[in-house]
Amino acid sequence: MSAEASPSLHNGRLYIETVGCQMNMLDSELVVAALRKDGYVLTDNPKDADTILFNTCSVREHAEHKIYSALGRLKFSKRNQPQKVIGVLGCMAQKDQDLIFQKAPFVDIVVGTGQLAEIPRLIRETRDSAQRTHIKAVSLGRREGSRDEVSDSFQSYDPLRDPEMRPTPFQAFVRIMIGCDKFCTYCVVPATRGPEQSRPPAHIVKEARVLADQGVKELTLLGQTVNSYKYTENGRLVRMSDLLAQLHDIDGIERIRFITNFPRDMTDDLLQAVRDLPKALKYLHVPAQSGCDEILKRMKRGYTVNEYREMMHRIHEHIPGCSVSSDFIVGFCGETEESFEKSMDLIRECRFKNSFIFKYSKREGTKAFDLFEDDIPEDVKRRRNSEMLELQNRVSEEDNAEFIGRRVSVLVEGPSKSAARRAARDGQPHDHHPEELVQLSDDSVPHRKGSAHGHDPPDHQDTDFEPVSLQHASPAAAALAMQLTGRSECDRIVVFDGNPRLIGSTAEIEIHDCSCTTLMGSVVTRQLQHGTGRLLPILS
Ligand code: SAM
Ligand code: SF4
Repeated sequence: MSAEASPSLHNGRLYIETVGCQMNMLDSELVVAALRKDGYVLTDNPKDADTILFNTCSVREHAEHKIYSALGRLKFSKRNQPQKVIGVLGCMAQKDQDLIFQKAPFVDIVVGTGQLAEIPRLIRETRDSAQRTHIKAVSLGRREGSRDEVSDSFQSYDPLRDPEMRPTPFQAFVRIMIGCDKFCTYCVVPATRGPEQSRPPAHIVKEARVLADQGVKELTLLGQTVNSYKYTENGRLVRMSDLLAQLHDIDGIERIRFITNFPRDMTDDLLQAVRDLPKALKYLHVPAQSGCDEILKRMKRGYTVNEYREMMHRIHEHIPGCSVSSDFIVGFCGETEESFEKSMDLIRECRFKNSFIFKYSKREGTKAFDLFEDDIPEDVKRRRNSEMLELQNRVSEEDNAEFIGRRVSVLVEGPSKSAARRAARDGQPHDHHPEELVQLSDDSVPHRKGSAHGHDPPDHQDTDFEPVSLQHASPAAAALAMQLTGRSECDRIVVFDGNPRLIGSTAEIEIHDCSCTTLMGSVVTRQLQHGTGRLLPILS
């Protein structure tokens, strides 16, 4: 069938698939915003699209394989519809460059993390050229310690936002820094994302104000080592704690979290800011990676297990009740059973809220690839992964059980996964849920397909809430309830039945049950009608 005869191909239809971290989700949001200005609309069906983009991750081999298989599936559709533009963006594009064209010659453009702003022009060029050629826009290569010569080739890219690509209409990511200078020996990020560069605080605050005006209530500040943020402005050093205080002053913003933290940079002034600023969530993601000093040294993490313990102690001293989550790599080069057991001991001792556990994946271009043998067999990595996951799940469930009978304050994000699945079956639109990003095992690389989704802004922004039990709701009102989900102030996922009108507001939930990943409860709030002092049951 000729391309012209294809009934399913529409000009200006974009399909984008995102693999990897929140930074990639934000990049996709920006790419979509730029392409919308060129008249594109989103579709969640690649068959419908005339432009297909993959925003990629190269942290582990598994994530790259997924993209290469997805590309392989496009080979025939590209043959039938040669005018389709296929692009590979992000970390894998930066890392593999020409290899992508060799493995998938039908790919038109390869664009690194530092060149995403150029995508609209590159797509136009591809479309306009009579003879399709491979177009590549990537940054200079980077070796450990190099900075200046490559910093200009990794540009921060935050000119536009696209609300429809956000986790929900009232939650937004804000990049406060790009790149990384830590060069942990296993990690490709310093090569794919370039040197660490903090954004000027004035730009960040301006962006946050715009987001607040658009109805955003919760900001997630992003950086590879977010707590290393520093910027000198008019001769004065602005630290992460200072930036938090500035963002805290913005009207409309109710919650601020920041990910991911580097243990060595967890300073007391930052912990005090988290304690003292009510909008700062009492939650810190501070990956330990291993509980064994020899392994930490091989990883070049720059701290010992005792220093990590001391940091945990300071966190709990400054912020009682603070949740901490971690990342661990199992099966890193030279990890003995004894070193693995030390990581298990660290989980028992630190009682992380959750841990993201990864089997070591050797990555070309890293120090570990050059220096160490990947000597732990796959079956041993798999066993350690599942043993660690089992232990972490036990710890999480025990600690979640402590919440039973307590009340937590939840920003209601939308229907729970099962309610969303039911709604999809019944043909109702639904939002993607951030739980899709919760990753407790190596097998679930989080991803998000590009699709148009969104809600109207919540219609009850100017109401307060006071406790009432759902059990008192009328039968008609109860029929409106669906299973909703959101996160507590210490970042625990909470599910409960409630009126969808609650979505986007903060509700108080009493917890009666739990699993290792979720607290289950019921709404104990009711709206206070403004000006009257009258209490209105939330479901009526
Ligand atoms: N900057 C963050 C930090 O320092 O913790 C993490 C960024 S990295 C993209 C996310 C996680 O992926 C890391 O914390 C680490 O556990 C894991 N990771 C990175 N490289 C890996 C590799 N080669 N194999 C397995 N896991 C890896
Ligand atoms: Fe990778 Fe280490 Fe930088 Fe995190 S701190 S991004 S693990 S190099």
